[in-house]
Amino acid sequence: MQADLAVVRCRALTGIDAPPVCVETHLANGLPAFNIVGLADTEVRESRERVRAAILNSGFEFPARRITVNLAPADLPKESGRFDLAIALGVLAASGQIPADALEGREFAAELSLSGALRPVRGALAMAMGTARDNGKRGGRPHAFVVAEDNAREAALVPDVPVLAASTLAQVCAHLCGTGAGLARAIGALPSTGAGADYPDMREVRGQAQARRAIEIAAAGQHSALLVGPPGTGKSMLAQRLPGLLPAMTLDESLESAAVLSLTGRGFDASRWGRRPFRSPHHTASAAALVGGGGDPRPGEISLAHRGVLFLDELPEFERRVLEVLREPLETGRITISRAGRQAEFPARFQFIAAMNPCPCGYRGHPRRACRCTPDQIQRYQGRLSGPLLDRIDLQISVPTQTEHETLDGPPGEDSAAVRERVRAAYQLQMSRQGKGNAELAGAEIERHCPLTDEAQGLLRAAMARLAWSARAYFRALKVARTIADLAQAERIDAGHAAEAVQYRRVLPGA
Ligand SMILES: [Zn+2]
Repeated sequence: MQADLAVVRCRALTGIDAPPVCVETHLANGLPAFNIVGLADTEVRESRERVRAAILNSGFEFPARRITVNLAPADLPKESGRFDLAIALGVLAASGQIPADALEGREFAAELSLSGALRPVRGALAMAMGTARDNGKRGGRPHAFVVAEDNAREAALVPDVPVLAASTLAQVCAHLCGTGAGLARAIGALPSTGAGADYPDMREVRGQAQARRAIEIAAAGQHSALLVGPPGTGKSMLAQRLPGLLPAMTLDESLESAAVLSLTGRGFDASRWGRRPFRSPHHTASAAALVGGGGDPRPGEISLAHRGVLFLDELPEFERRVLEVLREPLETGRITISRAGRQAEFPARFQFIAAMNPCPCGYRGHPRRACRCTPDQIQRYQGRLSGPLLDRIDLQISVPTQTEHETLDGPPGEDSAAVRERVRAAYQLQMSRQGKGNAELAGAEIERHCPLTDEAQGLLRAAMARLAWSARAYFRALKVARTIADLAQAERIDAGHAAEAVQYRRVLPGA
């Protein structure tokens, strides 16, 4: 490599993606100066101060030359902090204080303190996933990823990326010079939490046999569901127990879920590793809080629920405009946020569960309390949910008022472990047949994987005509019938499976 020039690899962060960034440092003769190209002005000033102080306080010389640092490509969002270590190493290599060729095959991401200590950066897991992806494309020896101690355990969760943890700039330089003890390779192994860990148990739901059955179907096919019933009947209780019924996450699913959490201000949380998320934003949440946003876009609730459950209680109380933004991610499993000409994409494949009262006062259909709502009020209340949104809900589940005797004296329900075992068996059938959950089947896949008996087909077609279903509603009912057959370990959907599926589309009128 040419003297006076150094190239150091780093990564930016845009949504969940972490595209590579090259930090090129050039030293020239002339009046001493330190210019950074490719960052916003305020970021440049702060970065320059940290890098200069860290170099001096680590026992190196800050070259009294004309220093130009270029971050390429220029059009990526770049918070300055994550590039500090790469910039400092570039200055040291270009001035011959560390060997430039030792930078080959390595990527660096850490902020520097004035004393030269390494500080963690946001999204280290997402960056390590970027390194792994590019390692796979490039082949050959994998690039190693050098991070601050506090980021190491998170980054090292990604297989096939050697992660090296350091606590100071001096340590990194000693490692690159081949002096001292060298940096240890970080270990990302975490205790596996397994399916069902720490979730509330179905045992605590007494009675409600039909609603319990419907939640089991929702879990088995990862179907979206709307729970309808008066206040206090246990709609939220049922929803909160759903994540504990779902099959354990695969390693890839766990990584995706943890990577989204690592993008938030709070960062990576080891105690959440391998647990399906359960998010329940309040109905006053803004569209930005729900889907994500901000000048430097952060993930919203739907992305924090990725691979888990998004629960919207009191669904008609959400602003209609807020609910409409759910339609794109419900179809694609992703959300794109556009802001000031820049786009950021976040994953958002969540299981959508909602709950609502049957009417504004809540007591329509209640055996002992009178509903005071007029038909007009009820229609307006239910009309707040748009047809296209209701169309995207696979199961409508009635959660009726029970007698005091049923609620207080009934036997405890079956526990979550027993339900989870049936869900697991049904899910395994789906995986071996089609490689995805029934809810995700689309287009020609539905016909291929959902064979019906003649009687079952006649029954579904008659329901479609009688209940004025859209084609979308028909296919959703067919997929639910597929899951019901899977729970019975049946290859073909029979009339009984189809009839049960029809029941889950007729709780609300006109849906
Ligand atoms: Zn009412």
